[in-house]
Amino acid sequence: MSIDSNYPVIERVETRIVDLPTIRPHRLSVGTMQSQSLMLLQVICSDGVTGLGEGTTIAGMAYGHESPETMKQTVDTYLAPAIVGKDATRIQALMTHVGKLVKMNHFAKSALETALLDAHGKRLGVPLSELLGGRRRDRLPVAWTLASGNTAQDIDEAEKMLALRRHNVFKLKIGAKAIKTDIQHVADIKKALGDRAAVRVDINMAWSETQAAWGIPALADAGCELVEQPVASAAALGRLMRRFSIPLMADEVLQGPESAFAIAKESGSDVFAVKIEQSGGLFAAQRVAAIADAAGIELYGGTMLEGAVSTIASAHLFASFANLQWGTELFGPLLITEEILTQPLEYSDFELTVPTGPGLGITLNDAQVQRFTRPGSIHHVTRS
Ligand SMILES: [Mg+2]
Repeated sequence: MSIDSNYPVIERVETRIVDLPTIRPHRLSVGTMQSQSLMLLQVICSDGVTGLGEGTTIAGMAYGHESPETMKQTVDTYLAPAIVGKDATRIQALMTHVGKLVKMNHFAKSALETALLDAHGKRLGVPLSELLGGRRRDRLPVAWTLASGNTAQDIDEAEKMLALRRHNVFKLKIGAKAIKTDIQHVADIKKALGDRAAVRVDINMAWSETQAAWGIPALADAGCELVEQPVASAAALGRLMRRFSIPLMADEVLQGPESAFAIAKESGSDVFAVKIEQSGGLFAAQRVAAIADAAGIELYGGTMLEGAVSTIASAHLFASFANLQWGTELFGPLLITEEILTQPLEYSDFELTVPTGPGLGITLNDAQVQRFTRPGSIHHVTRS
């Protein structure tokens, strides 16, 4: 890649881990989250512009291949040294370049790409959504996940969210308990909420195909409207989709455009949960959405329970999608008790407002970030 000296170059990349308290333990079939750790990344460019990115996952290494610690190591050792000194405006070329040096590590790459896009948006004075083709909507519906593990507590929580007009779509995390217990949990919650709210489930791959064949129709009878990743294998998901009319959504099996194409080709899913980190960045997630559209698969904006930075990066992308039939679950920042932005995100009337300022359109509260930075975790890679 040639570097034109008229263009700003990347002077420095800074990473850190920020450990934030959460409102309650968050129970999934793969593990329980007691707090949330963000890998925050900043790129500092020669024109004085800085960009922010975030890498976050769910329950340490129980969910995916990367943890905040491995993301940081990947950026510090491989990604940052490969981009410092290079043209900060050639984002897709930079990502292709680092893609040759680092094969997988989608979460780390997503954090880097987000920071480069944030910087470039600020440089050009446009919101990130405009760099992604232009926004089609300014507000995004946001589902909430009920994951306390206790039915009565979950109903209480749902009632509070409805009263606040913050969420009226609830996703229940099931799969850790016996199927009958889980189905009863879903049925009880749906019965309590009635037509005032939609209920969906995420099984996070916990069921076998035979368990799913029993559980899926029972979930439909309980009033559940969408079943996310009941089984681990894409092939089994496809077979289940053809057997049952209730929509099934792919999440964990979607690991970027190639897997999206493979699933679409086999008609293996009704809905895709698109996630920027799991896809390998915003442009990769955009290609996942394009594949879904072309295949007649519906779209949902997923989360890795990210903090404000990656949540808003996702929001800019989802705001640009041609189709977003199932809304989003961009509630990650609401699970965290501490505000790390100077101005909190706007959640109201069951939706999140997509910021309109340049880049991500958000500003970190430096004192708060400093306060929760894991001691000794700050690392800089500077142009030599
Ligand atoms: Mg999921």
